[in-house]
Amino acid sequence: MPPTSTHADLITPYGGTLVDLLAPPEERAELARRAGGQTSLQLPPRILCDLELLATGALSPLDRFLGEADYRRVLQEMRLADGTLFPMPVTLPVSETLGIVPGQEITLRNAKNNLLGWMRVEEVYPADLDAEMRQVAGTTDTHHPLVAEMRSWGRLRLSGPLRILELPQHHDFPRLRRTPAQVRTLLGQMGSPRVVVFQSHEPLTRAQEDAGKRTATGLNATLLLQAVTDTALPGAVDHYTRIRILHTVVARHYDRDKTVLNLVPLAMRSSGPRETLWHAIIQRNFGATHFLAESEAARRVLEEYQAEIGVQALPGDPPASPEAEPYRPEAAGMLRGAYPPRNRQGFCIWFTGLPSSGKSTVAEILTGKLREHGREVTVLDGDVVRTHLSRGLGFSAEDRDINIRRIGFVAAEITRHHGVVVAAAVSPYRATRNQVRAMMRPGAFLEVFVDTPAEICEQRDVKGFYAQARAGQIKGFTGVDDPYEPPLAPEITLRTTGRTPEENAEIIIRHLVAQGFLEENPGAAV
Ligand code: ADP
Repeated sequence: MPPTSTHADLITPYGGTLVDLLAPPEERAELARRAGGQTSLQLPPRILCDLELLATGALSPLDRFLGEADYRRVLQEMRLADGTLFPMPVTLPVSETLGIVPGQEITLRNAKNNLLGWMRVEEVYPADLDAEMRQVAGTTDTHHPLVAEMRSWGRLRLSGPLRILELPQHHDFPRLRRTPAQVRTLLGQMGSPRVVVFQSHEPLTRAQEDAGKRTATGLNATLLLQAVTDTALPGAVDHYTRIRILHTVVARHYDRDKTVLNLVPLAMRSSGPRETLWHAIIQRNFGATHFLAESEAARRVLEEYQAEIGVQALPGDPPASPEAEPYRPEAAGMLRGAYPPRNRQGFCIWFTGLPSSGKSTVAEILTGKLREHGREVTVLDGDVVRTHLSRGLGFSAEDRDINIRRIGFVAAEITRHHGVVVAAAVSPYRATRNQVRAMMRPGAFLEVFVDTPAEICEQRDVKGFYAQARAGQIKGFTGVDDPYEPPLAPEITLRTTGRTPEENAEIIIRHLVAQGFLEENPGAAV
């Protein structure tokens, strides 16, 4: 077939027309002028995603956050009040404390207070939190991260006409981010009215690549690769890595005349079939006619509602054979770079214990051994840190906490960049140590309790501080007149009586080897 320059007629948007809430310049100026005296709402990242989808018509026919009648019916029957299939409760949550009432004009802002939108509140209504959590997160368990996040937003919902002054800005991959209207223009230029969409929220595998290409070729369709971005559920591969992979693989291995790669600011929920249907509606608004389902269950639910949504479900990737390498070499390389194996990941050895218990002594020996294993080590010794990072801080409970949190902040940054930290500070307060633990990736913080009896520490009195504290020359000295709270569940406990400092350092090394953070044999580390 010769290349065609005719503009293909794409599928109509869901509901017939593509919603566009962006205010033209004159209106924008007028709304911005009025914003001054209005209550503003700072939207959390997930709601910003929904706002962006609403603004650009990706949620057509919705032109606002759901009002109460729509909301209740969506929760119960996956339908808007007028009967249109719409499975996701897309709402604007707000806390009662703001006292927003119907009739009020409000402004919508991001965390940096940029003015994004204007809304005239028509409805303020209570959310059915349990039902909403069940439908959106698939659970009401408050420990579920999505439930916890949603609960923090407040229990009221707002609705009313909405105008957008500025779309949320993104500084990553700006050229890959297009509105549904822009994607439709590109798809139209590609010449086929049939568009197979592959929606991607994980690193692209070979099997997915093959399935997408095979299906699009078979239907003589354009392939639309829609990468979901901006808010991921915990534990997922970060979107920077995913999209770098997609971008590279598409540039090298896809037919550029028949492929569109685009990013969608889509906040993933965990609501199963509802979410699948919602995604299909969004993808139809971008111009998709065929949807590669990620599972058999997804394909079945899409098929059930196909007549209404107008998007045909297709089986996605067949299960790959277990021995096949799932990723293209360039993709595998990027994943390894972002998620190195344990023996190249960062970690923090955090010594805690009374003054003169032996923290610095063991830390110094350990540091040498870690370097012998080929690891890059930063030592953050409590006393040394006080000469620069924490210069000027005293020994009040508050200053001690600030000191520990500063060490923790730096340690967390270093471990995030795959470095190793050895921190040795008395760090007497349990809660503060736990705060530091929470700053790091799970598993990266290893608390080492140097469990030396107080009398022995005082006998050692390496720096003469115990003597000064006893003489009343130092106030609030840990172990004398300030408490030391031993850890309840440290990763490692060291006794320093009857064991040499070398033996203690070796105990830590063995623990790290067992955990996979170090190679068994130092020479083997690269
Ligand atoms: P901290 O850093 O906890 O204030 P230091 O490491 O500066 O304590 O001092 C601990 C003192 O105890 C050192 O003089 C060290 O030689 C001595 N010591 C004796 N046995 C041990 C041991 N098994 N582990 C660590 N230190 C020990």
